[in-house]
Amino acid sequence: MPSGGCHCGAVRYTVEGAPAHAALCHCRDCTRCSGAQMVGWALFPRDAVTIVGETKEYRSSEDGRRQFCGTCGTGLFYTSEAAFPGQIDIQIATLDDPDAFPATVHIQIADDPAWMKSTGDLPRFERYPG
Ligand SMILES: [Zn+2]
Ligand SMILES: [Zn+2]
Repeated sequence: MPSGGCHCGAVRYTVEGAPAHAALCHCRDCTRCSGAQMVGWALFPRDAVTIVGETKEYRSSEDGRRQFCGTCGTGLFYTSEAAFPGQIDIQIATLDDPDAFPATVHIQIADDPAWMKSTGDLPRFERYPG
C-alpha cells in the first residue's frame, strides 16, 4: 500500500487504490501556497486515505482547504467540498515512492509565468552543471 508523509515525519499516511486522476497543477493558489512552480496532486476518496499525526489547515479559497505539517511546513492534502465532495487530493511529491501515481496532465497553465512555456527546452543536468 503506497505511503507517504511530511519531511519531518510527524505526519504519515497510507493510501489504497488508484487515483481518480493525477495532475500537475499550475494555479496561483498552488504555486503561492507551496512556493513551487507547480504541484502534483492525486485525488482519492477520503476513506481511501489513512492519516496519522496532526495536520494544520489553511483556507486558501472559499472552499479550498490545504493541510500541512505544522512542524516542517510540508504541504500534504487538499480538500474542497464544492469541487471534490468526499475526496482528498494528496501531494504526489510527499509519497515515499513518487512513481506510485504518475501525473498524467498539466492543469491551470493559464496562470503560468511566460517563461514556463519554454522550460522543456532548458538544459538538464543529473545534478549540477559541471
Ligand atoms: Zn513535518
Ligand atoms: Zn492548484
